[in-house]
Amino acid sequence: MDTFLLTPPEITRRDFLKIAGASLALLALTEALTPQVAKALEESLGKTMVVWLEGQDCAGCTESFANSLEPPATSILLDSISLRYHETLMAASGHQAEEARAKAIKEGGYLLVIEGSIPMAEDGLYCTIGGKTFRDIVRETASRAAAIIPVGACASYGGIPRSGPTDAVGYLFRGTQKHHYFDDVTAGKPVINLPTCPVHPERLVAVIVHYLTFGTVPPLDKFHRPLAFYGSSQHENCERRGHFDAGRFMIDWGNPRQHDWCLYLKGCRGPVASQDCWKRLWNNRTNYCIQANAPCSACSEPEFYESFSPLYERQYDVDLPGIGRVEIDKVMAIVAGVTAAGIGADMLISRTAKRKNGGNASKQKVEQKES
Ligand code: SF4
Repeated sequence: MDTFLLTPPEITRRDFLKIAGASLALLALTEALTPQVAKALEESLGKTMVVWLEGQDCAGCTESFANSLEPPATSILLDSISLRYHETLMAASGHQAEEARAKAIKEGGYLLVIEGSIPMAEDGLYCTIGGKTFRDIVRETASRAAAIIPVGACASYGGIPRSGPTDAVGYLFRGTQKHHYFDDVTAGKPVINLPTCPVHPERLVAVIVHYLTFGTVPPLDKFHRPLAFYGSSQHENCERRGHFDAGRFMIDWGNPRQHDWCLYLKGCRGPVASQDCWKRLWNNRTNYCIQANAPCSACSEPEFYESFSPLYERQYDVDLPGIGRVEIDKVMAIVAGVTAAGIGADMLISRTAKRKNGGNASKQKVEQKES
């Protein structure tokens, strides 16, 4: 009964194997599981329901997912699962669309994808669809879901709307703080957060395929993010890290000599970002922010965007993992010509301290904030 503009193409066994192989690579699982994944995809054909809600959002996560070529999102959406409700992609509108959601809720057992934050101010009236607040729609739809997948920074932690007047929250968190608005409906259901702005399509595909294959979710961190995708530090793995350690910081965008230098003084939040963009890349593996000469804005983290704004500007007295507050003006004075080596030494302290502390200082920073 799926009411969509797109017509599912014929899918072959070869297609299943291709999607299965690509999905295993995403999850860093052995290729030996390919037949198992392909079988699970075949068996779930048209059976596993997905309901995709959008609240306070820009539809960027939908765009990001729909543009995935490898594995192809259209094959995942239209062949392997039964997408029952998606405001941006479905052909139906008005009462017909709401009937599709009501029917899915009646059947139950679907994967619920939530895109966009949930406004809580004014009894949720900042966002209503079909006469219902988004808050109530989330509550109602989550109550019959098998698993809940908030995608993007907004649905995970409140994201950019959290800086506005709507008291926006993510499904489980408001920033770093856990809230309990939906505890009664979540009760034991897996919740898998897939932050970044927007969601990376590969991460969502992999979580769906993992669920279809094993009936479980991959191991998660304390913010309900899959460790396979959010367990490594951007800064530790950055291709510009050598310049950071040597004290070579980009000051002038127009200076070709500085074009691949560290972007820390241009506002890079890589030191507090836990994600694998550095190896996964974006736009069908074309590049990612830092490769495109843009600082990392740490959109994988619960503090994004409120605590990291203004982006693209150096943050004064920023917290550096393992070293605490850093007085940026002193750093700038050194960079301006006194002794660049001093910067290297200064920053090296943070690296050494971080490693002494177990090599994952961004988590430590968040833990400190929570306590
Ligand atoms: Fe890379 Fe940013 Fe770290 Fe510099 S501060 S090394 S650009 S992650």
